[in-house]
Amino acid sequence: MSAFCKHCQLNTKTLLGFLLPVFFFSMVWPVNAANLFNEQISVIVIDPGHGGNDTGVKGTDNSREKNITLAMAHLLKDRLSGNFKTILTRKDDYALDIYDRAAVANTNKASIFISLHVGGSFQHKNSGISIYYFQNPSSDEISLDHKRSGLLLEDRTVRAWKSVQLSHIIESKKLAQTIYTSLSEQQHLGVKKSQDVNLSVLAGADMPAVIIEIGYLTNPSDESKLNDFSILKDLSHKLSIGIEKYLTKN
Ligand SMILES: [Zn+2]
Repeated sequence: MSAFCKHCQLNTKTLLGFLLPVFFFSMVWPVNAANLFNEQISVIVIDPGHGGNDTGVKGTDNSREKNITLAMAHLLKDRLSGNFKTILTRKDDYALDIYDRAAVANTNKASIFISLHVGGSFQHKNSGISIYYFQNPSSDEISLDHKRSGLLLEDRTVRAWKSVQLSHIIESKKLAQTIYTSLSEQQHLGVKKSQDVNLSVLAGADMPAVIIEIGYLTNPSDESKLNDFSILKDLSHKLSIGIEKYLTKN
């Protein structure tokens, strides 16, 4: 006699048919659940401009652009890390190729790419924050003090395959405008309306991307403010608000 009645035998088969997949998925599900969760978190790649021997703009009081951008990037990362996965293209003072920066964002499937710089100009009166998004390379109108630092696209061959950013220009403009609004709420530095410029660091980014120049190091007043930790902290706070607003609306 079977230990199980007819219904039990039938039910045992049904039960096994049910339990085996459940056992299998219970082994796999925690991993899948974690992956699913991770996929829902937006990834933000923050790029502190320059580094190592590439010091960037030198201030009138000897400040270096590479140090200001790194400090700002860490502050911004601290602000955003609670709600987003944030990645820095460089965490310390070392050089990084200009095209490798957007590659970090592409490899990590970032939702947005934020490149931080500080302006520099022969005209010391130039000051304030500028926000740039990518310009279609067919346009010849280029106006930026960053011409000196190799950030502009120079070679047409490079343009042809490095301009994946072209398909994100509308969103990049929206991101730039949202950041403009949030940064305009601080009183330390003036903020210029966002502009489109033909910048190589943005060209290879396959997601909405902007460059933010946090003031001018060649302007003594801006330089002094950018060396004030509490001001940098406030600027990073306002910048993070703009980024969060953009990401939560999209
Ligand atoms: Zn720069």
